[in-house]
Amino acid sequence: MYREEPYTGKELPYKSLCLTYDDGPGKDTYEIARFLFDENIQATFFVVGKYAIENEETLEKVARLGHIIGNHTYEHPDMPYYLSRNGDIQNQVLRTDALIKKYNKKNTIYFRSPYGKWSKEVANNLNLNLLTNIDHVGPINWDIAGIDCFYWKKDVSIEKTAEKYLNDIEEKGRGIVVMHDEIADMNFLQPKNKTLELTRQIIPKLKAKGYKFVRLDEIQSIKEDAAKKLTVTLKTTFGKYLCIAGDSTIKVEQKNSNLNREFYIEDMLTGCFALSGADGRFLSIGAGEGNVVKLNAKQVTSTEKFDLVPLRSNKFLLRADNGHFLQIQKESGILTATAAYMRGGEIFTILPIGLKEREKFSLKEEIKSLQRQLLYVKSKVKERISR
Ligand SMILES: [Zn+2]
Repeated sequence: MYREEPYTGKELPYKSLCLTYDDGPGKDTYEIARFLFDENIQATFFVVGKYAIENEETLEKVARLGHIIGNHTYEHPDMPYYLSRNGDIQNQVLRTDALIKKYNKKNTIYFRSPYGKWSKEVANNLNLNLLTNIDHVGPINWDIAGIDCFYWKKDVSIEKTAEKYLNDIEEKGRGIVVMHDEIADMNFLQPKNKTLELTRQIIPKLKAKGYKFVRLDEIQSIKEDAAKKLTVTLKTTFGKYLCIAGDSTIKVEQKNSNLNREFYIEDMLTGCFALSGADGRFLSIGAGEGNVVKLNAKQVTSTEKFDLVPLRSNKFLLRADNGHFLQIQKESGILTATAAYMRGGEIFTILPIGLKEREKFSLKEEIKSLQRQLLYVKSKVKERISR
């Protein structure tokens, strides 16, 4: 979940700092990570996807040293402006997620928006999509600003830049510090980046002044929000919600029923998710019983994992471990894992609680969608005839 108000390090105790590096990975990233490791400091590297894909080996090594790998978008756009021009901000997050997810053992992805630019609209848009929302915490801003690249641009010496950082830190006394292990958007400046040397100079001085270094996930509000589970509702194509019935089966909601329709959802990696109820039991296809889905498992094994197959706008098909898609039985309204083909599976709208579904699609979009459905049917008919 993304907050409207960015996270900072204001709540840190006096003389506590949290180091973050942006825009990498680049040529010096590993050296910086190694130096910090030797100094017993665990930093966060907010990486840009387009660089990460070319430098996976560096990321792997940096993560192995115990540093956190965060998401800093794929192409480093100004997110509020990008969104206003119909840029796909969800795609900016998801493409980088695909490169860094494996390094986040606890599943949390910390997000920093380029230039710290943020808006309510950006937060809403990213929260609305289950996949950009779940396990994400952000935006993570800073207290001690990243002026390093502008100093390199003006050919200011490392010593002068170090002095500026030290003065800023002394003035604030605490907080999240940002530096740049790489410089996005100003390619000409990349060879001039001296942040490795800057890091080497300021760390011993800060330690001598009594500063302690904390990990990003040790900041209390960030830690608490990372631990929160996402609650969702699942709505069928007919606009009815899935509910937990008394006998642990999952049924579509009947008229005026007060059955519980809230589910916790957890990412189990490799495209699988687990759903649970308020009492902590998980949805399971269990054994026998006509593959009826029940809320009765105490832990997640393979039969509690469901593949989420995303369609547009928070619509998903769910495939169970038995290879069948989830569907609703017509007579009983019970959820079962029995559809052998995708076309038999129910399409669910999975929406985080408290968020409104995307506004209706335009007539043009709906017509296009119908056209696609017709073309599919046509191709199937053709297939039959030619057989
Ligand atoms: Zn940046």
